[in-house]
Amino acid sequence: MKIAVAGTGYVGLVTAVCMAEKGHEVTCVDVDENKINMLKAGASPIYERYLQEMMVCNDERLTYTTDYRNAYKSANLIIIAVGTPEKKDGSANLTYVYNVAKEIAESAENECVVLVKSTVPIGTSDKVEKIIDENKRHDVRIDVASNPEFLAQGTAVTDTLNPSRIIIGVQNEIAEKVIRTIFEEFDAPILVTDRRSAEMVKYASNDFLALKISYINEIANLCEIIGADVQDVAKGMGFDPRIGNKFLSAGIGYGGSCFPKDTKALHWLANMNDYELKTVKAAIEVNEQQKLKLIKKARKYYDTFQGLTVSILGLTFKPGTDDLREAPSLVNIPILLEEGARVKAFDPVGIENFKRLMERSDVSGINRIEYYESIDETIRGTDVCFILTEWDDVKNYDAVNFRKFMKTAIVIDGRNCYEISLMKAAGVEYCCIGRQTLK
Ligand code: NAD
Repeated sequence: MKIAVAGTGYVGLVTAVCMAEKGHEVTCVDVDENKINMLKAGASPIYERYLQEMMVCNDERLTYTTDYRNAYKSANLIIIAVGTPEKKDGSANLTYVYNVAKEIAESAENECVVLVKSTVPIGTSDKVEKIIDENKRHDVRIDVASNPEFLAQGTAVTDTLNPSRIIIGVQNEIAEKVIRTIFEEFDAPILVTDRRSAEMVKYASNDFLALKISYINEIANLCEIIGADVQDVAKGMGFDPRIGNKFLSAGIGYGGSCFPKDTKALHWLANMNDYELKTVKAAIEVNEQQKLKLIKKARKYYDTFQGLTVSILGLTFKPGTDDLREAPSLVNIPILLEEGARVKAFDPVGIENFKRLMERSDVSGINRIEYYESIDETIRGTDVCFILTEWDDVKNYDAVNFRKFMKTAIVIDGRNCYEISLMKAAGVEYCCIGRQTLK
């Protein structure tokens, strides 16, 4: 099948490469010339495990272009995987999705199916269909279907090749048949439903996961107050198959390009329909508070960060990705800098993206950040260390080194990376989330 994918971000590029791996001819379209030039040169513009290798292996079935007209002209399937970022009021910005709809209307000369893979508010696929119908240049049948994506950054390639489920929202059997031929090659349950329900599955799933995280974070906060250990609590809860043991890691809150915006977008949509999603609202509020937990914990040791040197382990919103969208580092580091701290930061893949974001921001004191590729060098001579991302390099780091290299061995861990007894034995003052620490 001839497939065109609009958007070469985390979803679009991974989808395209996995479709090529399944033997399809795929044209990747993006408006960003830099990305397309990098891709043409054989380099992935994003970091995702296995992606670069698979791109190279499937090179002959993959084409990269900014020329959408040619790409959509004769495609059998067009996948929309452009961004749907948050607007100031919390709603989803659908400009990019609607732009692609217009571009398809202008270009498609063959009968084709358009799959809306971007996460979009309920009713958006109907609007995409309307835009295409109203702007179609050629008299061809174009069906629009919803096919929400459930991959997680950090495991995007394996998630795409082994999906937990495939949700297809269609309005007729013709579209269903075309889509089934593609997805039957994947070993996963397929649910066929109407477009609105498919769109809702995505938001309902993401918001449920966000709720689960905020819930365990609140339990963690209470554990700290009343003297319980959230890790044991979560483990005990997780044995119950009705609860499950995933998404029960207490920490400094969820980030990334999905949960923050998808909770706000569904809450906004409910409000627009005179309904208040109280549970989702609570998840959002708890998450906002949780992001600042480490700063609050550090105040126990220092009234101000003025004149201190703070080491930061982890900049990205989670391990396995170079993505910084809504990462706790973007909230915590500006506070430290604005109070006058010097910051030494470590991240295995996120440094370049972080530098770029800081240079474009109005955060004061960015000349006081230094970047390191070694944890030893990052923590050397520092007064306090914040752990923001649970990279393996951090989890496997020898606790004794905190004592050896830091000026004052205080570690404030937002991801519960270490055993408390180990830190105690290493002589480190250790604060983490929802567990009883040293005193
Ligand atoms: P992204 O920002 O990484 O990539 C979007 C890409 O679309 C960019 O490269 C941008 O230049 C390109 N683009 C914009 N307008 C275009 C146009 N007219 N034609 C072609 N390309 C265009 O976004 P992402 O993280 O891949 O997310 C895409 C969608 O998938 C979003 O709706 C998101 O919510 C959803 N989603 C994301 C994830 C995730 O983990 N990132 C998971 C599931 C679903």
